[in-house]
Amino acid sequence: MNVKYRKTVIAGNWKMNMLASEIKPFIDELKPLLPKTKTCETVLCVPAVNVSGMLKQGREAKISCGAQDVSEHDKGAYTGDVSAAMLADLGVKYCIVGHSERRAYYAESDVKVNLKAKKLLEQGITPIICVGESLEQREMDLTMAHINYQIRAALNGIDVSRIRKCVIAYEPIWAIGTGKTATAAQAQEVCCGIRGIIRDMYGARPARGISILYGGSMNAKNAAELLAQPDVDGGLIGGASLKPADFAAIVAATGEGNE
Ligand code: PEP
Repeated sequence: MNVKYRKTVIAGNWKMNMLASEIKPFIDELKPLLPKTKTCETVLCVPAVNVSGMLKQGREAKISCGAQDVSEHDKGAYTGDVSAAMLADLGVKYCIVGHSERRAYYAESDVKVNLKAKKLLEQGITPIICVGESLEQREMDLTMAHINYQIRAALNGIDVSRIRKCVIAYEPIWAIGTGKTATAAQAQEVCCGIRGIIRDMYGARPARGISILYGGSMNAKNAAELLAQPDVDGGLIGGASLKPADFAAIVAATGEGNE
């Protein structure tokens, strides 16, 4: 992390877990455990049907509400989809795009990820753009080539004035939901590489200012070491975000709540 230049973000990804009726008990348990941090933005990304509930319950606990997906279209005959304008209208501040589960199960292409990120930015919502390599790609030493392609495709046509509003999440596919975390050195190497790509595309200042998160089996035990890396500005957390004590411990591991 480098709090002088960029925001620390700890974002939970609830995926398709938790009922609307479970939000209040969760936040009631989480709130007293959360450190009083001014510089760490704490976010919970919930299914679209739970956005209103999270916005209501999260407010007092200073938890921002995020969504997990958005349509690449503005409006119209897209049954089941939710537009960026609909999310913004409710007060959503963040939205995940290009999560590896959506890329794998819903054939979400890099072109779609780019369109979705642009729609969110038009509505003032921060896209959390997920990139990451498969185990095969890592073993073939193709990690940075793949990430380079994904980042350039996701940010294609996004203006320098909007890049600071974006958050990138480096999520090695082999580490998601597997209990296999990237080592702190691996996370740092790729996050630093991503910052280099942003520098190449947009220049030094935007690169220094953009928050780059690590995601992939981050938990209460390994968070501090991962977050201590200079180019890891936070985490995108799946499983551990479903347990209030674990999620609070990860926020505390940003180190700013301990004063
Ligand atoms: C994720 O789904 O983005 C994720 C990182 O999950 P987990 O923390 O469970 O690996």
